[in-house]
Amino acid sequence: MGSNVRAGSSPALGTQIKTSVLMRVLACFFILFSFSFSQECLYDYIVKEKCLNDIHYLESYQSSYETFINRGANNFSETYFIPVVFHIVWNQESQNLPDYVIDSQIDVLNEDYRRLNENAIETRDEFLEFAGDANIEFFLANVDPEGNPTNGIVRTYTDREEFLMFEDILSNEITLDEVKFSISGGSDAWDTNKYLNIWVCNIGALDILGLDLGQVYGYAYPPINIDEALSTIEDTTVPDWPVDMLSDDQNVQGVVLHYTAVGRNNPSADEDGMSENNLGRAAVHEVGHYLGLRHIWGDAIAFFGDDGCSVDDGIWDTPNASDQAGYVCDFNKNTCAGDNFGSLDDLPDMVENYMDYSPGACQNLFTNGQINIMRTVLEISRTGLINSEPNLKIDNNISLNSSVLLNRIDIMGRPFLANKGIFIEVYNNGQVKKKINIK
Ligand SMILES: [Zn+2]
Repeated sequence: MGSNVRAGSSPALGTQIKTSVLMRVLACFFILFSFSFSQECLYDYIVKEKCLNDIHYLESYQSSYETFINRGANNFSETYFIPVVFHIVWNQESQNLPDYVIDSQIDVLNEDYRRLNENAIETRDEFLEFAGDANIEFFLANVDPEGNPTNGIVRTYTDREEFLMFEDILSNEITLDEVKFSISGGSDAWDTNKYLNIWVCNIGALDILGLDLGQVYGYAYPPINIDEALSTIEDTTVPDWPVDMLSDDQNVQGVVLHYTAVGRNNPSADEDGMSENNLGRAAVHEVGHYLGLRHIWGDAIAFFGDDGCSVDDGIWDTPNASDQAGYVCDFNKNTCAGDNFGSLDDLPDMVENYMDYSPGACQNLFTNGQINIMRTVLEISRTGLINSEPNLKIDNNISLNSSVLLNRIDIMGRPFLANKGIFIEVYNNGQVKKKINIK
């Protein structure tokens, strides 16, 4: 709650070396602080880091966010079905998660985004009126970008033992995105305008000079550069978006998850030494970011004298909170006074919200305000993801690549069955492609 503008948190960037050094030192402090308490999500780090680089990033995102809130979703009654492709980028067998784990992850997403989760009954009474059904469902893609049938799971062996958030601690470059490109040992995105891409890999644990800073379980880029949003900028009323975490690179849009945090039947779940994240809700949280949500506490941290209660997530029906839950399900926690909406004068922190850092077993709701954001983002920013039923129609949905492979033959016209060599592909639209497989 609240509408404070936190422009002051975006230091003016100069080219002076001193400033740059200071920023990096501050960034290191922030990382240290953030990851010693929060282990789930890279989002808040990136948000702050990117703002140090480019103030326009923040403006763009603030404008977009404001538009999402003001515009409102068209309706809540239509179910939006989103096709998902999982890229399993593995080095060790335990990272090559079985299909049943991916199926389980889809189940968790569908339960939580339809409020069909078993623990919905544990939502506290004072929050029941705000908890909603997002009416968004997910399904494994059944057609790939080439128009071929698929199970929606791409498996890629990598010789990289891990993907690090950043290779150079003093650099601002987010190197985790390398998992999204085959040239750097990852797996290339499928058309991010039509598929929700979820990469699963071994995200390297963070440490600085041998000091363990914890494990990142996932991250996602929120949407930006939305023409409709930018055309209605109201500079004077930007909400308090945190600092930036934006990329207009279509090839990196999607979610990255650490392999231990996927699904709720994951045989590798305990390889991270943590049990609070074994219910598949890291994906629920990250998809929330991908659909435009901020952390429920507004990404403020009482740090260097900052008052966390002055920074808000911009959503009216989430109580103000000064900080994250810290992986504790504490129903007595109430870090900010004056939440005067709903039936009580001062609501406690909503630790059961998916966008907090609470144990998965504690999380059980999105609010209607959050749902409004997510559906609006789908309607104006990630429009191509919306399908009216849980399967892709080759003709309608894969419009740019609507050809279907009919046959693969050798140069003599015989069926091509070998693993390598020259072959010809014949498509239903008359297209013929000559290919060489040299593997
Ligand atoms: Zn997060």
